[in-house]
Amino acid sequence: MSPASLPVDVRPSQPLADLTSWKVGGTAEYLALPRSVDQLASMVQWAVAMGLTVHPIGAGSNLLISDEGVQGLSLCLRRLQGVRFEPTTGMIEAYSGEHLPTLARKAARAGLHGLEWLAGIPGTIGGAVAMNAGCQGSCLAERLVDVELLDPSTGKCWRLRGQDMAFGYRHSLLQDMAAAQAPWIVVSARLRTSPGHAPQNLLEIIKANLSQRNRTQPCNLPSGGSVFRNPLPLKAGRLIEVLGLKGERRGHAEISTVHANFIVNRGRALAQHIQALIHLVQDSVMREKGITLQTEIKHLGRFAQSSPGPLG
Ligand SMILES: Cc1cc2nc3c(=O)[nH]c(=O)nc-3n(C[C@H](O)[C@H](O)[C@H](O)COP(=O)(O)OP(=O)(O)OC[C@H]3O[C@@H](n4cnc5c(N)ncnc54)[C@H](O)[C@@H]3O)c2cc1C
Repeated sequence: MSPASLPVDVRPSQPLADLTSWKVGGTAEYLALPRSVDQLASMVQWAVAMGLTVHPIGAGSNLLISDEGVQGLSLCLRRLQGVRFEPTTGMIEAYSGEHLPTLARKAARAGLHGLEWLAGIPGTIGGAVAMNAGCQGSCLAERLVDVELLDPSTGKCWRLRGQDMAFGYRHSLLQDMAAAQAPWIVVSARLRTSPGHAPQNLLEIIKANLSQRNRTQPCNLPSGGSVFRNPLPLKAGRLIEVLGLKGERRGHAEISTVHANFIVNRGRALAQHIQALIHLVQDSVMREKGITLQTEIKHLGRFAQSSPGPLG
């Protein structure tokens, strides 16, 4: 196959920044946004035949994309949407691109309890499975019955049970595959909820959750959510705050003054500015506390390994 035989809707040299919540990053060598499983399969088949690395992207709300861009096929699944409810059993089947806040509201309106906490997480179901997204003591692993996964190298779909996904704190087996040339892709997932609840009560819980987020997180500026994993039982945000790093800036990137585990884009930040702040935090926490802070966010594309010093 040659680039000339590009499947419809696979585009070369496409900007990626607007497909991320941080609004930073360069261009994709190739970008595809499938709307159906058939489109997804043919795009992936083309990429594998071309020897291209496949990079699944959901809503890009946990991704730092390099300013240099991304080689291979960036496969953005946010348009692969659709959801089906079974109101009597509480089972929900959602395609990978279903937006978590929308899904949480739809479930609440159907009287299905158990997903209210998803309303403040701006990702997709596929990203939430890959990351085992969670908050307020809940996580996706607790709700996942099974997941349909596409293996790009064979074009086959497999259904794995939740307990076979090697879930841990913000971890699933999909992350172990992320460095592969053709990592498995979440096509859809089935979640269990508890049926028969009053929609108004569930919507009230969502409202309370969101207002708490608005008070404690910098929701008005682009970010990637929590940048660092908590070195349990400690909180990454608290460690960064006590070291006086809130408000540190590189270019237009800033360690949030609202929540120290967030790095916000105050306008025209570059990925290298955000990465410089990540290194600043990691170096400071190691030097002052002897603790290695690991990132929760995922990197896509090439980044410098060590601190490049102050930028911008
Ligand atoms: C303001 C804000 C608040 C946040 N709050 C929370 C929170 O409370 N709790 C929490 O856990 N997270 C939170 N996040 C982070 C993020 O929203 C979650 O990690 C979310 O699950 C990521 O989903 P996504 O679709 O955006 O994934 P992406 O960011 O696009 O991708 C994340 C990872 O998942 C992989 N991936 C994505 N889709 C697929 C797929 N279909 N198949 C296989 N792999 C895939 C990617 O390759 C990548 O490795 C927050 C982010 C922001 C910006």
